[in-house]
Amino acid sequence: MILLFGPTGAGKSMQGQMLAVRQGWKWLSTGEMLRQSQDEAVIRTLQAGELVSDDLTYRVFEEAVQDARERHYSNIIVDGFPRTKEQAAWLDDYLVQIGEKIDVVIVLEVPEAEIMARLEKRGRMEDTPETIAKRMTIYRQKMYPVLGIFAEAGVKIVHLDGTGTAGEVHDKIYDEVIQSWQNS
Ligand code: AMP
Repeated sequence: MILLFGPTGAGKSMQGQMLAVRQGWKWLSTGEMLRQSQDEAVIRTLQAGELVSDDLTYRVFEEAVQDARERHYSNIIVDGFPRTKEQAAWLDDYLVQIGEKIDVVIVLEVPEAEIMARLEKRGRMEDTPETIAKRMTIYRQKMYPVLGIFAEAGVKIVHLDGTGTAGEVHDKIYDEVIQSWQNS
């Protein structure tokens, strides 16, 4: 399993999908699956830029992992999970249960000013200045600290400059992370 980290607007989804297509991996985005929810309370939470409940997130994540395993994908690239230390602990237990592991965590680093400019263009329903600020805060206070847990556990973490075009960032991830990891 490969995890993609980065603040909202860093290009996680784009990069995750590009890598998934190139490698024949499953792209698993908890945010994308939650956006398809018909549940009004869930949609309201997304629109507010807040985190949905752990129970729902785990359910969505587990179903997607099972689906990927049934379809025999060779790997899964995860975008948007885990977002808190509690979710990281849950993931750790879950991976032991199913006999999988985290191969590498890729962190896309993009300066806040560029993120703001990118999100203005993207225009998703939840991309208002207030919710963007909220998601940035959650990333800094909850998701980024998860990297500390992975580092302590000896998981390989690679920080990459996420600025530039999608193609440039993809090439960088491929050359600096995927190739060296697969050759090792
Ligand atoms: P994303 O597309 O990853 O930016 O996620 C969009 C939204 O989905 C987030 O702002 C949260 O409301 C929700 N979401 C996605 N992943 C999680 C998660 N791991 N835990 C809780 N909420 C999540």
